Formats: sequence, structure tokens, C-alpha cells
Amino acid sequence: MPDPAITRHARHLALPQVGADGQERIGASSALLIGAGGIGCSAASYLAASGVGHLVICDFDSVDATNLGRQILYGPDDVGQPKAEVAARRLGIINPDIEISAIANRLDDAELRNQVAAADIVLDGCDNFATRFQVNDACVEQSTCLVSGAAIRLEGQVAEFGPDYETSPCYRCFYKEADESLENCAGNGVLSPVPGVIGGLMAVEALKFLAGIESQRGVLRLFDGVSGEFRAVRVEKRSDCPACSSLRPQ
Ligand SMILES: [Zn+2]
Repeated sequence: MPDPAITRHARHLALPQVGADGQERIGASSALLIGAGGIGCSAASYLAASGVGHLVICDFDSVDATNLGRQILYGPDDVGQPKAEVAARRLGIINPDIEISAIANRLDDAELRNQVAAADIVLDGCDNFATRFQVNDACVEQSTCLVSGAAIRLEGQVAEFGPDYETSPCYRCFYKEADESLENCAGNGVLSPVPGVIGGLMAVEALKFLAGIESQRGVLRLFDGVSGEFRAVRVEKRSDCPACSSLRPQ
């Protein structure tokens, strides 16, 4: 590890759970981020700062003035610019020693499958169920670990699935169909730091996975920003899940 990296990651190197071996694993890994909104800005910032070797930022949206209150990688000069490209530039300032790729167009199933196959972990912070299901199915197919997050109003949730989908549940084992109460930030509003909290928790889960730290998968953690409390719900593997039920233990 070069000297600047030893200095940057000194607090990770001091952690018995990470240390030099864990940091090497983080540096050699690749993460695919779906969505560069409030959740993605937060998760991506920590993954970049932590030295994840290759970040792929995927978002086909452009920065809108209504994003600036919570999507912390963007400023007023970025309005109208592709989020993925602006985010990649800012993340490159946070850590110039990692590789960052921007995908500013919508991915079809085959393109998404290729991106998921190339990643060690996928973080999904998108804002709609069609994409969440598409991302989940690609992760199940490629046996790739998925960290999923959502935030709306003063509520958020985060869960980690896979990569052993033969025996463990996937996102669609919990959400059989779209839950409309989790969609449409514009109509429902969202308290600015709630997506940031969820993105931060997703980064914790992703870094644990990449560094080889033991973690509880298949558990949905629900954050209630009004009470400040978390609730954990164990996700059961569903025998009729459209994504993972056809997989059988070898
Ligand atoms: Zn499933």
C-alpha cells in the first residue's frame, strides 16, 4: 500500500476488523451504485473516501434545483448536468486514487447484467420498484451481493441480500409487488438527512462485506426518524419468489 493510502486509511488500519488485509480487499474491489440521488450521494461519498478501488455510478437523471436540499454531491452550477457525471467528478476530488466510472444512460437488462457481473457488490438507492426488481433479479442471476436502501418522509430502510441466493432470501422475497408508500419523494416529501443516514448505513454494510466482516443478511432494518428508532424484520425465503425460488441448493 503506498504511503498516502496508509495515511488516508489509518483509522481503518487501526480497526481489528479491517486492518491491512481488509483494506487491501476494499481497495481491490468494485462497487456498482444504482441511483445518484440522496442515498447514492451519501453511500458513494463514503465508499470513495474508504478507497473502494472502482466505483461505477449509474443514473440517467440530470441535477434538478429541487435536489440540492439533500443530494450533497451537487451545487447550483450543476443543475441540468447528468448526475452520474457530476457525481463521478466530485467523488474524484474526494479520492483521486480510485477509478470512478459514470453511466448516464438507462441500462437495459443485458447491460445491467454485465455491470452486475463485473461488480463485487451492488448498492441500490434508486427511487422506483421497477428498477429495484430489475437490479435484484440481475444480482440473483449473477450471485452478487445486493445492499438495498430507500427513504421517504422521515422513514428509511436498508437490507443486504445474497450472494448465496440458493439458500438465502432476495429483495423480492419481501416485496412481492411495488409498495407505493415508498415511491414519489416529490409528492410525499423527505427530510434532507434521512436518505443520507440510509446511504451511510448501506456503505457500512458494503464495506463490511468487502472487508470480509461477518454480517446479518436477509434482515430489513426500518428507521423511524420521528422516534429515532430502528426495527429489524427477518426476511423469509419465499418458495414462490419470482426471482430466487428456481435456485436450489447444490
Ligand atoms: Zn427471492
